Amino acid sequence: MTRTLPVVNEDEVLFWKGGADGKLHFPQCRQCQYIVHPPAPVCPQCYGRELGETTVSGEGTVATFTINYQPWVPDMQVPFTIAIVALNEQDDLRLMTNIVNIPPEKVEIGMRVSVVFEVCDEDIYLPLFEPMKVSV
Ligand SMILES: [Zn+2]
Repeated sequence: MTRTLPVVNEDEVLFWKGGADGKLHFPQCRQCQYIVHPPAPVCPQCYGRELGETTVSGEGTVATFTINYQPWVPDMQVPFTIAIVALNEQDDLRLMTNIVNIPPEKVEIGMRVSVVFEVCDEDIYLPLFEPMKVSV
């Protein structure tokens, strides 16, 4: 798929490039443990200025989604699913992403999903989500 890549600011390097190890990385407040996303210079919960780093399970739930049918740029493959995924670790830790490896018409709100990374130019690891594999 042809993608328009993000311009990565200094405070977003952790998010866009941390996926090299297969995990989602976020800043985390050292004082109250709140996971901060999108990146901010202070914790939005307690205004603590000391932010550390944490990784999460990469598992979450589809909070809402829409299906895009419009090829906005040449070579864009449609349809595809644009979703907001709420991660397990914190209800307001939500990512705007794509749901992949499933036909768009099968995606449902509440569906359990897990992260997969698409490796792009400039060492950007785009976090996408696919249906969670059910273990038997
Ligand atoms: Zn805090």
